[in-house]
Amino acid sequence: MTTAQARVLRTEIPGPNSRELQRRRAATVAGGVSSVLPVYITEAAGGVLHDVDGNSLIDLGSGIAVTNVGNAAPEVVEPVRRQVAEFTHTCFMVTPYENYLQVCEELAALTPGDHEKRSALFNSGAEAVENAVKIARRATGRPAIVAFDHAYHGRTNLTMALTAKSVPYKHGFGPFAPEVYRVPMSYPARDGRPGEQVAREAIERIDKQLGADQVAAVLIEPIQGEGGFIEPAPGFLPAIAKWCADNGVLFIADEIQTGFCRTGAWFACDHENVVPDLITTAKGIAGGLPLAAVTGHADLMDAMPPSSLGGTYGGNPIACAGALGAIHAMRERDLAGAARAIGDLVLPRLRALATGAILDVRGRGAMIGIEFVKPGTTEPDPELTAKIAKTCHARGVVILTCGTYGNVIRLLPPLVIDHALLTEGLEVLEEAIREHTSS
Ligand SMILES: *Cc1c(COP(=O)(O)O)cnc(C)c1O
Repeated sequence: MTTAQARVLRTEIPGPNSRELQRRRAATVAGGVSSVLPVYITEAAGGVLHDVDGNSLIDLGSGIAVTNVGNAAPEVVEPVRRQVAEFTHTCFMVTPYENYLQVCEELAALTPGDHEKRSALFNSGAEAVENAVKIARRATGRPAIVAFDHAYHGRTNLTMALTAKSVPYKHGFGPFAPEVYRVPMSYPARDGRPGEQVAREAIERIDKQLGADQVAAVLIEPIQGEGGFIEPAPGFLPAIAKWCADNGVLFIADEIQTGFCRTGAWFACDHENVVPDLITTAKGIAGGLPLAAVTGHADLMDAMPPSSLGGTYGGNPIACAGALGAIHAMRERDLAGAARAIGDLVLPRLRALATGAILDVRGRGAMIGIEFVKPGTTEPDPELTAKIAKTCHARGVVILTCGTYGNVIRLLPPLVIDHALLTEGLEVLEEAIREHTSS
């Protein structure tokens, strides 16, 4: 890593050069594309982002759970550099190449279950989800897809329909794709109910409202991401998966945010030994290069007719080189273990923050959320959450928020982050929480 792993503040954040770029941006970049923190980056390594004003920020977001192996990880950079020089693109659907196969071999080995699997590669998470739904409908001959409260699956037309939250993702962008049904999600901090009980309610809803024989698939994030880092109560996922298996309904795990060591295992489904029929992956898969995949039972995947799956760039060789490098780094550096160590460091510290404004500190591995409420109530406090995040940003720590109610701070540090740097970032966060909650 050439960039020193330290927080350095030389100007206010954003600095004058970033502010100048932000003015230029307004004249050319579509207003609907936003940035959490408009600090313009020139270089990044490990857990640090270096900006155009000479500041170095601590990265507790990993570009939304993407740079799990650290930014510009050497294990990713070197094979990508080699691949770019060898060839950049042929289109796998025109003339194939080996590293696409190698990525599919890794996916077969790493994803839950030891059944025979096949994969298809795409460019983005939303595209993977679209294709998983396509496959499920065609393989089952059924129309309906069941999704959950608080779900997030992307911003294309079908994935908007699958996503729960209206503003900003869906509002005014309809009409949406049909045959998407929504059922309750286990949300322990708010419903306080056993997982099996909430699962029963969801299943009853499906049975009553459409009937199992109409359902192609149940689509679920095993820990919800954008919806608020909601980890369902134990028993919820296995109960849903069992109902699916009993009714010929495919269980699709959207592990786009939770996958690739983020939660302290290769995949979040591993924690409860749930084996999905289809799994979607993206984000952390390739250390920052755009790549996504659908992996599933060989018989389902191979039931798709020739040329029915694909896309010009899907499984681009440069992205595949990045994925092989990233997966190698995860394995060699035991980044699942590193994620658990991050959780062990962060969770007790945050749980020790005694304030009535925190409803819940939750998470698994390096996917950690803090839910803020009006003190002594369960009423979400998005304003407080935004203020805390803003204070962290001004002090050079990149922190993201999420949640249906916008009241969750989420921590997604690169799994390779130096613990001293992580601790410094946490101290900034803890101080911001104290400042904004002491009255
Ligand atoms: C980010 C995300 C998506 C969408 O991925 P894109 O690459 O942004 O299209 C889908 N599902 C989950 C769970 C995600 O976190």
